[in-house]
Amino acid sequence: MVNGTSIPAAPAPAKAPKPVSANKPAGMSSVDNPAHSTSAGEPVGSIAVGTGRPTATLNISEIFYSLQGEGRHAGTPAVFIRGAGCNLACDFCDTDFSRREKWTPEGILDAISAYPCRFAVLTGGEPTLQSGFRILVELLHAHGYYVTLETNGSSLDTLGADWVTVSPKLSQKGKWVLKRGDELKLVYESQDLSFYEDSDFAHYSLQPKEIRTAPWGGGERDREATRREWEKTAQAVLANPRWKLSLQLHKELGLR
Ligand code: SF4
Repeated sequence: MVNGTSIPAAPAPAKAPKPVSANKPAGMSSVDNPAHSTSAGEPVGSIAVGTGRPTATLNISEIFYSLQGEGRHAGTPAVFIRGAGCNLACDFCDTDFSRREKWTPEGILDAISAYPCRFAVLTGGEPTLQSGFRILVELLHAHGYYVTLETNGSSLDTLGADWVTVSPKLSQKGKWVLKRGDELKLVYESQDLSFYEDSDFAHYSLQPKEIRTAPWGGGERDREATRREWEKTAQAVLANPRWKLSLQLHKELGLR
């Protein structure tokens, strides 16, 4: 709801997305948060019996249509394909890792083709943990999609995506190795921004931390405390003009 005007819900697909199976989370290794998993997807590149073509199975948390709310593509209608599992466990993470379903790349393509845009966001979790995403990217390219990747930069793999946003989480014990790409997007935690000078990105986005009333994305947004993070981040951008402010527009609009 914005200025009393409700934002229409994202259109539902013409048919409900069909996962390969509706497996409940299983075999998830807990880090600090039991809802987080470090386990990656199935082995990729195996030959489907009787077809002679490579196939893959991906562990997917959710697929939905919304506006990209962050970074340089903020405001762009996009299909989000969220991989399940991450190698980090950030205390500000708002991803629900309790959901996990197995999908094939073909099943994902079939499901998202019901949406009107051809702009896909691969996010997580950490998509690069699952090499099956590379097959998905090839398939999406073959069907005219522009594919963007959001990664924590703990791997050099960019899956062949058209646009790479790297979001290192150093305060969360994240190891940052991918130091070049299209966009570096940081959650601002009063860190020394000069540390990131030794990197090669076309765009630098600084994002305020969202403060919630419970950890791991639980509870509700603490609007006052979050607003203070906005102000703090805006001051940091003013002092470091290489960076631009990135607000989570989708959250302000009440979208996913
Ligand atoms: S790297 Fe991203 S997806 Fe992984 S735990 Fe941190 S915030 Fe969540």
